[in-house]
Amino acid sequence: MENVLNGGRGAAVDATGSEFRLDPATGRWALIAEGRGSRPTNLEPSGDKVANATVDGPDSFCPFCPGSESMTPRVCLIGARLTTGKTLFREAESDAEVDGLRWNVRVFENKYPMFRPADVVGSAADEQPSAAFEDDGAAALEAGALFQTATGLGKHEVIVDCDRHARGWSDFSDAEIESAFLAFRWRLRALRDSGKYAYSFIFKNVGSDAGASQGHSHCQLTATNFLPPDVRVEVERLIRYERGRKARGDELGFWDALLNAELADGSRIVAETERFVALCPFASRFPMEVAIWQKFDGFFEDAADAAVSELARLSRDLVAALERARRRFDADATSELAHNVVFRNAPSRLDGSLAEGAGLFRPRWLILPSLAKKAGYEQGSGVDVNPISPETAAERLRAVWNDPEI
Ligand SMILES: [Zn+2]
Repeated sequence: MENVLNGGRGAAVDATGSEFRLDPATGRWALIAEGRGSRPTNLEPSGDKVANATVDGPDSFCPFCPGSESMTPRVCLIGARLTTGKTLFREAESDAEVDGLRWNVRVFENKYPMFRPADVVGSAADEQPSAAFEDDGAAALEAGALFQTATGLGKHEVIVDCDRHARGWSDFSDAEIESAFLAFRWRLRALRDSGKYAYSFIFKNVGSDAGASQGHSHCQLTATNFLPPDVRVEVERLIRYERGRKARGDELGFWDALLNAELADGSRIVAETERFVALCPFASRFPMEVAIWQKFDGFFEDAADAAVSELARLSRDLVAALERARRRFDADATSELAHNVVFRNAPSRLDGSLAEGAGLFRPRWLILPSLAKKAGYEQGSGVDVNPISPETAAERLRAVWNDPEI
């Protein structure tokens, strides 16, 4: 789900009715967000054709192209490319600061946010993580609470990551993809350093099958009081591994041990750069799923420019490889590859019980082609059925990676 278009600059952010609700039996969260059902789109319901914008160049119908700035809400961050090739980023307190600036990246508030904006809460206490988020309501359930809800607080922003009407990253130049990733780091760092949010991450929807409502390349960022249970569980598992590692006297921590084992095996590796490894994960949930792991400890927000640039180019090239692999290996493919990119970030604000594991976490990027729909078994069991093994997926991707003619 996504919604990005605003009817007019300066309009009040729609903060009506989105609510986390907890299933008392399963402990699973749902976000009820009725306001997001009426979002405008310029993509046709199926396929990825842009309904009312040209493929290249500014178009008055595209709210994300240069010249349409008045159609989007207030800018939070703008990136302007200098003649030196570098991008200058500026946090913006008002539109007046950035009006008329030639930009190559724009970050602004979503017109239809999934969460109640933290800056209208007005109380630091309200911005604390909900107690229910910390234990999936288990303590309150024990006290008899059957209908638990929590307000999602925080930011939901749109990142227009290219000033051209490009469809996705595979069309980006080196300078464009590097500017995009530098903007991600800049914005995530500012949100983390604000100390107001439990979890921030970036995601990208490309194509209507992947949930996109606009044809112009863009990402979204959420920074909220909601810590996804998956992330909490991951930290808990890292702590367990670390405890066992110390008991066994093993030298390598979880990520280095896993990376070494994958590199030694090689069957799931797609590409390797100085600082990163791209691979199809051992237990891939989706066909042709690709993950980018870093070889070093540390968080994306603190990564050096050179590492961000390397990651950016690798991400772009992997999306391009996935598109080429689809054309090469899927004779029935009739439309451009729809896909999501998801940044699996470390929790940015931790209570004491989780702090122990924070340093064990390594952020990573996931590229998830939209090639399979959830069917009955997946819905009933919670386990995804993947019709393409990661070993086959990696073999196909290596074939196109190593042969530019494909
Ligand atoms: Zn556009």
